[in-house]
Amino acid sequence: MTESFTNSIRIHKVVYGTSVDGPGLRTSVYGAGCEHHCAGCHNQQTWDPSGGQSYAIDRLANEIVAEEMDVTFSGGDPMFQALAFAKLAKAIKERSTANIWCYTGYTIEQVIKSPLHRWLLDQVDVLVDGPFVEAKKDSTLLFRGSANQRIIDVKATYKKGEVVLWHQHYCDYADSFGRQAVSSEV
Ligand code: SF4
Repeated sequence: MTESFTNSIRIHKVVYGTSVDGPGLRTSVYGAGCEHHCAGCHNQQTWDPSGGQSYAIDRLANEIVAEEMDVTFSGGDPMFQALAFAKLAKAIKERSTANIWCYTGYTIEQVIKSPLHRWLLDQVDVLVDGPFVEAKKDSTLLFRGSANQRIIDVKATYKKGEVVLWHQHYCDYADSFGRQAVSSEV
């Protein structure tokens, strides 16, 4: 069965109430599979696309919505199951007011060029893009591991036709004082 017809998604784990993958307490969904293989990746256990376990997308969406939190897709890289994650995002949006963040090892410029990846991009509010680059690692950065990665407002980016960063001034402030300084405010 090809991904376009699947009603299932391969998930490494789901964590409810985390504060490290975006603002506030969120439900983080870690997809199985990543081919970027960034040096220094802390999630190598998620690289195997057949790892984790299979969930019915409809049932997983109901479980996520029941927790009434905003949602983050991570991995692995959700773009390797772009259609399944797009279906999950659409089901969550239809049943709740949750905003959805998505992490990917691709840049948004690469994602936009891929019709497959665009299915998922079109369903999310914020994209944290780019691979983890060990030489640019900075533990004080907010919601990202290396300085090349960007936190992008997807809807504003589409509207403006160029990359619009999510709350740029807030991110600059947060980055300059370190994650701890603002953890109680986000
Ligand atoms: S994209 Fe993320 S999960 Fe994939 S190798 Fe890079 S850091 Fe690890």
